[in-house]
Amino acid sequence: MLKVFFIGTGGGAPSRRGLPAYMVRREGLSVLMDCGEGTQITMIKNSLNVTSVDVIAITHLHADHVLGLPSLIQTMGMYDRKEKLTILGPKGLEDLLKQTFERTYFRPNFPVEFASRFEGKDITVEPFETCHVVPSQGYLIEERESVNLDADRLRREGVTDWRIMRALKEGKQVSWEGRTLKPEDYLFRRPGLRVAYTGDTRPCDKVVKAVREVDLLLHDSTFEHGVDASEYGHSTSTEAATVAREAQVKRLALIHISSRYRDTSEMLKQARRVFPMSFIPEDLSFLNLRG
Ligand SMILES: [Zn+2]
Ligand SMILES: [Zn+2]
Repeated sequence: MLKVFFIGTGGGAPSRRGLPAYMVRREGLSVLMDCGEGTQITMIKNSLNVTSVDVIAITHLHADHVLGLPSLIQTMGMYDRKEKLTILGPKGLEDLLKQTFERTYFRPNFPVEFASRFEGKDITVEPFETCHVVPSQGYLIEERESVNLDADRLRREGVTDWRIMRALKEGKQVSWEGRTLKPEDYLFRRPGLRVAYTGDTRPCDKVVKAVREVDLLLHDSTFEHGVDASEYGHSTSTEAATVAREAQVKRLALIHISSRYRDTSEMLKQARRVFPMSFIPEDLSFLNLRG
């Protein structure tokens, strides 16, 4: 199961909605995507543990996506974190953090690794190119496929020896009471869940390709239909929904909502006309994804 926390669903300037921050969690591993100003305060006030974040993935260096990061890392240091922190992001992020730490007399007392992608035991985080006005990348979080043994079937056939079960799970053929048990007859595979986050982007083919058939897409939806969102490299709700439909994703979360919209019902209606499985998450809501 993946749990997706919508921490800050606004964009540009803070409003009722906070600045961009989204967290995906799976069995103790937490990935934070973007870290706008105020992210750590929102997290702490709502009992989301800032020190337990393992991976931070920043989409681009516009202030609303990154300015909460130096202070979040400093807080991790104050709480005496020891575990390694992996940071993914565009060129310039490492320099921005190092400069800020130097100028604010801070040195992390835990290992910080800058990487281009993350590969954990059960999860990978992979960047993909997006189409914004500055260098920018989205992220695809992918759970590993799981392989399970059909123990019920084995029991029905009278196989209860755990050594046989283990061998089958390891993909080995087993001879048993004159029969040959083949692993492919007793194993079933469950594809891993996939979540994609675009950060700020125009609707574009690169994104459609990268997010194909994901279980959940978080796509820039800064403006309502009818506004020219191209000047600042954003998308309207209708454009986000068109990307979702073309990429045949399962669900679409409209995010990076401009502070000008207090009421988002019209925006949602526009998106659902194109892609019915659209929703607009509120700050601090979450979604459980099950395979
Ligand atoms: Zn933004
Ligand atoms: Zn931006």
